[in-house]
Amino acid sequence: MTVTEEIRALKKEKDAVILAHYYAPPEIQEIADYIGDSFYLSRTAAGLNSKTIVFCGVSFMGESAKILNPEKTVLMPDLRADCPMAHMADVEAIRRMRETYEDLAVVCYINSTAELKQHSDVCVTSANAAHIVKALPNRNIFFIPDKNLAHYVAGQVPEKHFVFHDGYCPIHEKMRLQELKEAKAAHPEAEVLSHPECPQAILEQSDYTGSTSGIIHYAAESDREEFIVCTEIGVRWKLEQDNPGKRFYFLKTEPVCQGMKSNTLEKLLHVLRTGENAVEVDPGLMDTSKKPLERMLELANTGTP
Ligand code: SF4
Repeated sequence: MTVTEEIRALKKEKDAVILAHYYAPPEIQEIADYIGDSFYLSRTAAGLNSKTIVFCGVSFMGESAKILNPEKTVLMPDLRADCPMAHMADVEAIRRMRETYEDLAVVCYINSTAELKQHSDVCVTSANAAHIVKALPNRNIFFIPDKNLAHYVAGQVPEKHFVFHDGYCPIHEKMRLQELKEAKAAHPEAEVLSHPECPQAILEQSDYTGSTSGIIHYAAESDREEFIVCTEIGVRWKLEQDNPGKRFYFLKTEPVCQGMKSNTLEKLLHVLRTGENAVEVDPGLMDTSKKPLERMLELANTGTP
């Protein structure tokens, strides 16, 4: 049996479902039952019936899946697959802001540890952040940790007062305007699609800014043939799958998230065989960090405010 055949057989035998983020390697996305961005995957994880979830992403995603499904086994192919941004905010800063501002909501990008979620009022993803911030009753918003996403959302919700954190995604933050200009010069017909974790200078040069699933949707709907994509390189697989004949270019310094790429077929097979790498969340954090995640899922379902 090949590795993929064995994964498929074990998946059935163990009543497991495989979730993979768009930034995971192509061979992982190919074998997954569900692929998507953080919002889609957390919503999917919340409604699954199978006994075991294998999450091919980074640690905050596995953790969120476990928090939303405490009775299920959540396995990760590599427990060290991590997102540096998830650790950039700190509880002390949240406490200080709560003392400084009345009528404050702490809005936590889902790319954060369970401990940070526990001290927040609501979680958001890049797909629903503006919608959820608009729906909150509070005027003051402390948005942690991503400064680029926060500024992008603040631009969409001008009626609120934002306090920014200084966190960032190292992969998106290092995208350079000069490289984008070079790509535009090489492909003058291409539309530029960017993720809001990119610096402002990149967003200003973009035809479309949105979550990874937003980018995928936009590329499929557009009648253009060429696109310069400013987000992690893993999304290329889904873009090419969905749009045969269209061409997708990335910046010269390829944006690669090492955490996402540490998911391999061999590691996936290993955890399915052995049941190793089960995600554990401190029992003291389970209920408290679940609330902001559930509030996100509720508010995301409300009509456009
Ligand atoms: S791409 Fe950036 S935000 Fe996403 S998991 Fe990797 S480091 Fe974290």
